[in-house]
Amino acid sequence: MAEADAQSSAAQDDERLDPPPDGAPGAAASDQAPPPPRDAVLASALTARDAAPGAAPSERDATGQAEATGDQPQRFGCASCCREVAGAERASWRELDGDVLALASANTPGWHPEAGLCRPCALRFAEARDALVSLQRGGGVVILPTALRLGAVERYTGRGVGIAFLDAGFFAHPDLITPHDRIARYVDVNDRKARRRDLDRGNPSSWHGMMTSVVACGNGSLSEGFYRGLASDARLVLVKCGSVGRIRHDDLRRGLRWVVRHARQYGIRVINVSCGGDYQASYLHDGLSQAAEWATREGLLVVAAAGNQGQAPDHPVVPPASAPSALTVGGLDDQRWPAFSGYDMYHSSYGPTLDGLQKPEVIAPGIWVAAPILPGTPTAAQAELYALLATAPDATLRESLRAHPRVDPDLDAAAELATPLLRQLVLAKLRDNNVISGSYKHVDGTSFAAPIVASVAAQMFEAHPGLTPQQAKLILLRTARRLPHVPAERQGFGVVDARAAVLEAERLAQAASKKA
Ligand SMILES: [Zn+2]
Repeated sequence: MAEADAQSSAAQDDERLDPPPDGAPGAAASDQAPPPPRDAVLASALTARDAAPGAAPSERDATGQAEATGDQPQRFGCASCCREVAGAERASWRELDGDVLALASANTPGWHPEAGLCRPCALRFAEARDALVSLQRGGGVVILPTALRLGAVERYTGRGVGIAFLDAGFFAHPDLITPHDRIARYVDVNDRKARRRDLDRGNPSSWHGMMTSVVACGNGSLSEGFYRGLASDARLVLVKCGSVGRIRHDDLRRGLRWVVRHARQYGIRVINVSCGGDYQASYLHDGLSQAAEWATREGLLVVAAAGNQGQAPDHPVVPPASAPSALTVGGLDDQRWPAFSGYDMYHSSYGPTLDGLQKPEVIAPGIWVAAPILPGTPTAAQAELYALLATAPDATLRESLRAHPRVDPDLDAAAELATPLLRQLVLAKLRDNNVISGSYKHVDGTSFAAPIVASVAAQMFEAHPGLTPQQAKLILLRTARRLPHVPAERQGFGVVDARAAVLEAERLAQAASKKA
């Protein structure tokens, strides 16, 4: 702890409970408003379902063209996931229900039902359909859970694996501490008196680290398990390295070194760093980069956000993301849907670094990611009210609004509006504030892409505890898939394939146990 003890100047957090902009600290800050949502498309898919529940494809998508029957082809190229599978793995549109066809059609550019889908895609669209039914009750923006969008292997949950998070601050969110408290340790590199109970109260610095840790490790306590991270059973070690907008290069270095020294004690295998240092630096001379290299040598996989400056002229990648052994994650815009053919890039920083290294190595969802709202804040009160009003029947709408005065002045002023206008205002409030429900909103930035990859890595270490960080990184790179229309320098090896990476780790574990 010597280094963490060296300074004790506690950051003077002010007590305002306003959230920072999404992705606040350091290099991982978001610098662009998200593109317009695709609710029109989603709404049309849903309307189609509502209009003709369970209608047979032949009645709805009827193209009039009988599907060619006869011998199955040997191989089938699925237009949704862009994979080739065995011919027997093709699901014809005759086997798919109307809802699944409507969703696949609305979310797979250029797809038509006669093309069919591979069975895994058909299953994912069916899961999406079920998810949408429960989501519609929430009233907010339609965001599918990350695991579903990635097609993740859900039997691994990071059990027995520790993940350390370096960030501006944290909060003991219910998704992390109920039914069991999984926060194994909390430290502040600038305040030796920091205690776990400090996390029971939020402050403006709590937002970013709360969101990154819950994106990876939340168990969806406040969403009936719906918005669950892939590592929902992992243990967390939370290391505060500054405060909102003020994370210093050297504090990150001290945070990393603290984690390496305590890795064995807390079973830490993965370090997530969704923030960056103050400047670009060569790893040959930079202490923060060298701390990342040391962590890797000590058996820890360092997962770092690339940053969101893809549109800046020098699109700089700063330490620790620029360190050679770090697994650097850029952002993917999956358009909220599990159809590879519709994927695009999110504006992430990219290399070459000062040392000439190509970064990022992979990309993962960096927009439309569900993240928690800090409980007890004005933002939370507003989100709760918007969600309440969105789902209230006409008869009680006005009553519900009057019961919550002074939460949102616009709504107070609108109390006498005609019901359709009031509903329109509520809908606009949900969308403008990225509200999914009273407890979650959607966020963007590579700050959220990195913890998604960290959670996949935790699944891999659960499947194969003997993996080294170098092996885990190699598997993630080898199984990733490039977006065909995006230059390699921007996306590295491409989109992380959560399923393929975890299954490969599992296969290696089985091979190793046979040998032993
Ligand atoms: Zn497919």
